[in-house]
This record gives sequence, structure tokens and C-alpha cells, in this order.
Amino acid sequence: MKVSNKLDIIKKNIEKACQVSDRPPEDVKIVAVTKYVSEKRALEAVKSGLYHLGENRPDGLINKQEAINDKRVSWHFIGSLQSRKVKDVIPHIDFLHSLDRMSLAEEVNKRAEGRIVKCFIQVNISGEESKHGLPEEELMSFIKSLKSLEQIQIVGLMTMAPHTHNEKIIRQTFRRLKTWQTHISEQGLNHAPCQELSMGMSNDYGLAVEEGATFVRIGSALVGNDQ
Ligand SMILES: *Cc1c(COP(=O)(O)O)cnc(C)c1O
Repeated sequence: MKVSNKLDIIKKNIEKACQVSDRPPEDVKIVAVTKYVSEKRALEAVKSGLYHLGENRPDGLINKQEAINDKRVSWHFIGSLQSRKVKDVIPHIDFLHSLDRMSLAEEVNKRAEGRIVKCFIQVNISGEESKHGLPEEELMSFIKSLKSLEQIQIVGLMTMAPHTHNEKIIRQTFRRLKTWQTHISEQGLNHAPCQELSMGMSNDYGLAVEEGATFVRIGSALVGNDQ
């Protein structure tokens, strides 16, 4: 199916979820996750009006960016990032969704070259061992310690829901992240305005929007996963 057709379906679902939660649909940005697909398919996404693209590997990111070469596109790095890869990635991205440790933050700060790097802190709400992300208990002290890193701005929080079909558990995960985000934003920290919530993927973006997502990261259901 064409990206534009899939996008129509996703936009309708987002609108519905926004109605349920009494939010304007413009509050929700779609990050098209192109990690599984070709450069050609990613370009089709851009031509369909998707101007936020997400990749989880440095080479995938850099290759797509070169091939697409469009200033309107914002680039999101969504995967776990090894510290030694930071210098390759930072010049190419607008948002990092996977800040989860001080050593990574220090490296990002060092490699920012005078830019402000917009970061989401990835939080492991579900507590699953396999998941990356900072444990909730460490969130506030982590934010405090980021204050001295002048090139890093915490724009929001990110999480991944646990692998389950249990809607209640997924919803609780998103709701908890929203609670943290509200709590942090209320502190009025200059280095961590924390207005955004990056949550929701192909299988759960509707729930995520109902619970307050401002960025949904959608791959399979939007551009596909088979090319
Ligand atoms: C792959 C990936 C996505 C998109 O996953 P889909 O289920 O294909 O929509 C979103 N977020 C992260 C962090 C990912 O790694």
C-alpha cells in the first residue's frame, strides 16, 4: 500500500484518539520510522508530507539523509546509542529519543559543537530487563545532574510499552510517563522544559495519543517493514 494511504488511516486514528482525550490533533507529530525500509520508500514518506523521520542506526540515518537531502525534514535518532557512535550521529540529528545515562549525556554534550541538542530521556517504565532506558527512581536525580551540560536540552520523555496485548498495562505505562512529564515540566527548569512525550508505535499509538503523546514513532503500520 502507498504510504499516503496508510498515512490517511493513521491520521484518522490519531484524530479519534485526540477527540477522546480532548486534544487538538496538531499536538501530535508523526515520526515515520524508516529503519526497515529502503531510501526510496523513505523518500515516498517525505513526499506524502511526513517531515519527521526516525532511524535507529547511525549508517541508516546518514544514508537516508544523504539520499533524501531535504531541509524540511527533522531527523530523529530513536535507538540505543553507543557512546563511541555519538560523534557520527550528532551532526545529523535534530532529536535524540534515547538519552538514558550520564556517560551518553556527557559525550553528546562534548560532541555538540556549540549546538543545543534536543533530547528525550528514555525511561524504562515497564521495568522489563530487556528494555533500555533509565529506571524511574533515577529520573529526577538524572535531570538534576544534566544541568551542567549546557548543550543538552531535555524536551521531553520517551518510553516503549511492554510486549503485551493487555491494553490496561500499556495504558498504565503511558499514563505514568505523562505523570512524570507533568511533574518535571512544572519545575520550570531551563535545561529541561520537558513539554513533549514520545510514546506509541504501530500497535499502540492510539492509546499513546489518548494518554498524551506528542510524538508517535510509527514504522510498520506506516512505511512497512518488508523492504
Ligand atoms: C522500530 C522502532 C519503532 C517503530 O516500530 P513499529 O512497531 O514498526 O512502529 C518505534 N520506536 C523505536 C524506539 C523503535 O526502535
